[in-house]
Amino acid sequence: MSENLLDDALSRISRFAEQADVAQEVIDSLMQPRATKTASLPVRMDSGATEYFTGFRCHYNNQLGPTKGGIRFHPNVTLEEVQALALWMTIKCAVMDLPYGGGKGGIIVDPKKLSPMELERLSRAYVRAMADFIGPQTDIPAPDVYTNARIMGWMMDEYEAIHRVKAPGVITGKPVRLGGSLGRDDATGRGAYLCTLALARKQDLTPQDTSVAIQGFGNGGYHAARLLQKAGFKIVAISDSRGGIYSSEGFDVESVYQEKQRSKQVKAVYCNASVCEQVDHDAISNEELLELDVDILIPAALEGVIHRGNATKIRARHLVEIANGPVEADADEILEEKGCIVVPDVLANAGGVTVSYFEWVQNRQGYSWDAETVQERLSERMERAFEDIWEQSRQHNTGLRAAAYILALKRLGEAVEAHGTRNYFNS
Ligand code: GLU
Repeated sequence: MSENLLDDALSRISRFAEQADVAQEVIDSLMQPRATKTASLPVRMDSGATEYFTGFRCHYNNQLGPTKGGIRFHPNVTLEEVQALALWMTIKCAVMDLPYGGGKGGIIVDPKKLSPMELERLSRAYVRAMADFIGPQTDIPAPDVYTNARIMGWMMDEYEAIHRVKAPGVITGKPVRLGGSLGRDDATGRGAYLCTLALARKQDLTPQDTSVAIQGFGNGGYHAARLLQKAGFKIVAISDSRGGIYSSEGFDVESVYQEKQRSKQVKAVYCNASVCEQVDHDAISNEELLELDVDILIPAALEGVIHRGNATKIRARHLVEIANGPVEADADEILEEKGCIVVPDVLANAGGVTVSYFEWVQNRQGYSWDAETVQERLSERMERAFEDIWEQSRQHNTGLRAAAYILALKRLGEAVEAHGTRNYFNS
């Protein structure tokens, strides 16, 4: 892999720029973030001692609108990772035709080691440090890895206390009662599910004969698995950070989820009401899950799980990326040569930011939409984006990832061209 995640992300921009045929100014504008803030966050721990955590927020690019993107709490967060994720948000929002640029934030912390009150104090400390760097018209955070609606609620509350205004549009993914949108909680998984349905139609896959393996059973992975199973797909493998389970018969997703809520582990069970029984299965590792011979593989955990070292071993015919950046740039070609069709993260996981956009619109309107309206509009947007990308990939004879980047670069290019480029001023 490249030295760091940002270089890896930038190598794709350079690679796809030629095919997109946009002015050099467009590419130049994407080669570095506009601004990144690093802050030390003092938090009073339950013991009475003060600990200092490091937090980041990056505004990568705001040519299409205010920067948008989640905040993750994870021990492996780095500045470059946050910047790479913010670049991917820039591409994602352009792919979905949302009036947003790309941003991202993160705190280096293992949230599982904090008490609920420490977590609240840390979330509020982050907003105190970033209160002038975020805002409903400038930069709008949301949930990401290990952050959730409750944390978004604390963050909004802190922002409002500092600025002495009600400003629900400063953050999305909030609890519904505090200005959140119906349908935001399962939006990432639903978006991936809608992409998988669209892919199945294009590839003539019948759900009943299609096996799916899911790596990662957090919010995105769970909801995608649940909806796919409901539509008839066979969910043959599921894993979380501690390992996974496989059965060619397929699992009942809801049972596995219920059990995971109880025991914090992915276990092969079938539950009837609250009575769960173990079902036949093989215990597998995360690496083994990635290498299963399945129709669709869904990486839904962290970045970089498929790389030069294991890409040749991937046997899935299709990949739907719920995680951000699960495939490193130098594995793209290997997968392509194998004929594996990849629905890229910037499309497959874009349901989350799309419903975040709907939430922000509702906050600005002061009017909330019902769940049906949210779901209908999400379907429309996902299907349109999938079709646009499919069409681009036909036109340019490329994979879907290249097609998504070409589409995004063209849209960003139109914004740059609208102000005039070298060609305009020199003619
Ligand atoms: N963190 C999510 C993502 O990576 C959601 C971002 C948002 O809703 O703004 O797309």
